[in-house]
Amino acid sequence: MNILVLNCGSSSIKYQLFDMRNKSVLAKGLVHRVGMNGSKIDHRKGDKGDKFTVNEEVIDHKDGIKKVLNLLICKEKGVLSSLDEIKAVGHRVVHGGEKFAGSVLIDEDVLSAVRDCIGFAPLHNPPNLKGIEAVTELMPTVKQSAVFDTAFHQTMPQKAYLYALPYMFYEKEKIRRYGFHGTSHRFVSKRAAEMLKIPYERAKIITCHLGNGCSIAAVDGGVSVDTSMGHTPLEGLVMGTRCGDIDPAIILFIMKKYELSPNEIDNLLNKHSGVQGLSGESNDLRDLEEGWPNRSEKANMALDVYSYRIRKYIGSYMAVMNGCNAIAFTAGVGENSPIVRSIVCKELDFLGVKIDYDLNEKTWRGVEGDISTPDAKVRTLVVGTNEELVIAEDTLDLIQGRLHPKTGKPV
Ligand code: AMP
Repeated sequence: MNILVLNCGSSSIKYQLFDMRNKSVLAKGLVHRVGMNGSKIDHRKGDKGDKFTVNEEVIDHKDGIKKVLNLLICKEKGVLSSLDEIKAVGHRVVHGGEKFAGSVLIDEDVLSAVRDCIGFAPLHNPPNLKGIEAVTELMPTVKQSAVFDTAFHQTMPQKAYLYALPYMFYEKEKIRRYGFHGTSHRFVSKRAAEMLKIPYERAKIITCHLGNGCSIAAVDGGVSVDTSMGHTPLEGLVMGTRCGDIDPAIILFIMKKYELSPNEIDNLLNKHSGVQGLSGESNDLRDLEEGWPNRSEKANMALDVYSYRIRKYIGSYMAVMNGCNAIAFTAGVGENSPIVRSIVCKELDFLGVKIDYDLNEKTWRGVEGDISTPDAKVRTLVVGTNEELVIAEDTLDLIQGRLHPKTGKPV
């Protein structure tokens, strides 16, 4: 049973084809620069096979997906003899608003609900929809599912998701905390409970997803009770180019003083802030860490601000859950940066967090593990995230009837 997972961004299409009998990756790749000059497809057979690049014009998402499907059945580079071998397609969809607390099979109602959420995620939901529409045209009989970034956080209590604005803005405009990276927080918190050998229903886990975007979640008994990203993915932690939490009055001050339009301030906060804005050097932690701690003053400062914010959230989420069994680091930085993990954990011993610095140094590049000292009361784990596998698993559960097709709840 093969399942294709698609993650359609504004100018890219990520894909992975899974054989769900053993959950192995048959092929994967990335279509770059969709609808732009210089588009190309990086494709590989298997999870770690050699990458080869197809330099071809990709005019839009439908064209990109068509070319991916052709690659999958191509004699030389492909892995299937016919597209009939793909039983279903699972899509990552960024925003499901309050309508979706689980993954669902796509029908007209789902499509219209995803369209209703475009206002919340104007950069993400439209390309997600384009991917779904393209598959409907290219493979009309195949079942499709939507797996939402926001769904896992729908369990947050009202006190966590409401902002202290006039209540009308929630009632009328649905302005509230939604949270993102839900698929990753779900996968990682569950895996952390497995690693600790405690039932997921009783585990209190803080998951730190530190990648291009960064968010942190408090997962209590298998449900998200709070998370750092908010109405949009701008709130919370310091990120590569996003500012995370700031005093909202700063926005008004800058807009007035520098006569910036809403689009210009949006651009400043999303694209020119974070560690890029602070250091003036790079948005990539790998650059800022090179030579650390004997790096430039500004690079060190950016790394400090980035790590301090994570520590602050960890402390507050321990308070939110009234305890914590483990902190789980994941995604590009979380899985690969002993430096960030050590700065974050250094002064958390009062709360029971103690890491073994040698183990920390050795745990990266795909190595998973517990990096705590034996006497640590709160364990510190490094866990590899796998959002694509979760999308494939949910899709399989939906088409085989283990999840309700319209709510995603276990049947
Ligand atoms: P992701 O969004 O999970 O793919 O993470 C991408 C980010 O991970 C990049 O922007 C890098 O800054 C970061 N990253 C990847 N490898 C390392 C590393 N070895 N050390 C620090 N950061 C890393």
